[in-house]
Amino acid sequence: MRVHAAADGGLARVRLPGGRLTAAQLGALRSAAAALGDPVLELTSRGNVQVRALREGAPQRLAALLHEAGLLPSETHERVRNIVASPLSGLDGAGPDVRALVREFDAALCATPELAGLPGRFLVTIDDGRGDVTGLGGDVGLHGGRLLLAQAPTPLRGGAGLLVRAALAFLAERAGQGSAAWRLAELDGGPARVAARLGTETGPRLAGAPRPTPVGLTRQVDGAAAIVVVAPLGLLTPDQAEALGGVAEEMIVTPWRTVVLPHVPMDEADLAVERLAAAGLVADPASPWAGVTACAGRPGCAKALADVRADARAAVVADAAPQALPVHWVGCERRCGAPRGRHVEMLATGSGYRRVES
Ligand code: SF4
Repeated sequence: MRVHAAADGGLARVRLPGGRLTAAQLGALRSAAAALGDPVLELTSRGNVQVRALREGAPQRLAALLHEAGLLPSETHERVRNIVASPLSGLDGAGPDVRALVREFDAALCATPELAGLPGRFLVTIDDGRGDVTGLGGDVGLHGGRLLLAQAPTPLRGGAGLLVRAALAFLAERAGQGSAAWRLAELDGGPARVAARLGTETGPRLAGAPRPTPVGLTRQVDGAAAIVVVAPLGLLTPDQAEALGGVAEEMIVTPWRTVVLPHVPMDEADLAVERLAAAGLVADPASPWAGVTACAGRPGCAKALADVRADARAAVVADAAPQALPVHWVGCERRCGAPRGRHVEMLATGSGYRRVES
């Protein structure tokens, strides 16, 4: 697996298509991180998990452990399995169930050799029609079954095969332009030209910001509860990972650095929330932790001008009022992990922070 060099050691990103993860897989990640690097797992803005501070020789051992846990199904395509889907799809009845489609597309992606050449930034969104993940700005996506190209709708409807064709059309257009663009929207006339390769055209780009999965309890169509918890600052300690696995057999990491725990019997939900809270996970939508995120900052990132996580934590503790807008703390102008849509940015300047609302 590809590992980035960071100031605190190797940084490995584990892709979770649709954010899906079993309790056993989370347990494997927790053990691997504790044995090979920083025991604290990081949740990312694409619903993936990162392990950092990997020591020399650790990436090979990590890859073997992930493969064993079913988290590394394709060595050739690992970097491009960037698939975000509506986290509550198939649970709350608000749209069609896209869970099987996510699995089908992931398998088709890995089975198509040319798609190993997609840029690592290329993002596929599968929105069940409720409009939560389309606003994340995928390169190709489905919104209620309709194909989107850089958020511009086409008349085409379909499933995994259509997404594969669209991704191949992006690669063909990129090669045709002699471009090294990472994103479809960066190509000259990107959406329209890729649509033309698919024999269709695009309409005006869909407006609208992403809509975070609500924190707290959601009633599933079968009467059970789905509990959505915040991992403060997107960090999962070993105890928190254990607590998650103690509540649900399977879970969904969302692009908002929260975790959905589905299929909890409704009469056990309050007790489950108490157990999660005891581990420091937050199921209260009014909590000041909801919507607060931070990049790695010091000491993990050499570019950082501050220990942003410590500063963000201190700010939340000092002012426990819920935030009207998401707040993202960053250690430099690269703005890693910034949420899409309106938010407040706290940018380290070297002598403090500059607050910018966007
Ligand atoms: S925003 Fe800057 S300081 Fe923060 S992780 Fe990215 S590069 Fe590092």
